[in-house]
Amino acid sequence: MTLDVLQLSRRGFFGMGAGAAALSALPVSLAQAGGHSGGFTAEPVSYHTVKLGQFTITTILDGAISLPGPHPIFGQDQEAAAVRKLAQDNFLPPEQQVISFTPVLVDTGNETILFDTGNGAGRRPNAGKLKSIFEHVGFDPAEIDIVVLTHFHGDHIGGMVEDGQDMFPNARYVTGAAEYDFWTGPAKDIEALKKRIPLIESNVAKFAEKMTFLKPGQDVVTGITMQDGFGHTPGHGVYHIESDGKRLMLMADTANHFVVSLQRPDWHVRFDMDKEKAAETRKRLFGMIAADRIPFTGYHMPFPAVGYVEAMGEGFRFVPASYQFAI
Ligand SMILES: [Zn+2]
Repeated sequence: MTLDVLQLSRRGFFGMGAGAAALSALPVSLAQAGGHSGGFTAEPVSYHTVKLGQFTITTILDGAISLPGPHPIFGQDQEAAAVRKLAQDNFLPPEQQVISFTPVLVDTGNETILFDTGNGAGRRPNAGKLKSIFEHVGFDPAEIDIVVLTHFHGDHIGGMVEDGQDMFPNARYVTGAAEYDFWTGPAKDIEALKKRIPLIESNVAKFAEKMTFLKPGQDVVTGITMQDGFGHTPGHGVYHIESDGKRLMLMADTANHFVVSLQRPDWHVRFDMDKEKAAETRKRLFGMIAADRIPFTGYHMPFPAVGYVEAMGEGFRFVPASYQFAI
């Protein structure tokens, strides 16, 4: 199965006016044929803008990959049949899945802030499109004031450097203190993690002098506060975003599958470094936004990766956002 991220519409650009920007999210384009057989693939537009108080929030589709699963990546500690059934009950194929990647640009009016940087071009097929999307819409990454890294997995830090060049020459960087301390300390001595270290050195540690290290409860800027999302990685950060009383949670990798991780938050996920802590964090954070009925964006949620959750059974039901931000 080939997933071509479609040609981007040239009608819009980041930072356009509120009403038009919100509505620009609505048209759906079709993927280019791209020379592969097997018909066409319908894909959503590559970026989606919503207004949150004075802030403009744009989710950007860095790409999407298709791979076997959800089991055993999701429900690693469960019988394959149970995971297959959950997928099918939710109208999903039982043995093949799509995982997408969604960096988020927040324009506060004072600062332009990018949360996570995608895979980086060429790191894997059908992903690493952030740079080319910026080029298509005529957005200069030099305009980004702050890059926030939620955690240091490759699909989040891969776009920091492209072709040996720093992608964000004018930015300062923000990340969780615990995340940085782990990956530049104990991780180096853990055999299973050693293969991840070179990318962290070239794409994160290199920028240490321009980096601010946050603890939960500390702000990136006024209105954007880090919260404890620990578990997926030791210092995985989530961010509470608020403007004019409107709130949205940036959940990063708290849940990596919109059905399996949300409906069965206790099930183990291969990508979670501490399975139990990640499950506890998932239930705590999604429990909070379900109770408060506030929207969230999640890095691996189906594009445009904005929605809500409702408590259901032992977990949560994902409700994709539609026009809530547009009117
Ligand atoms: Zn991720």
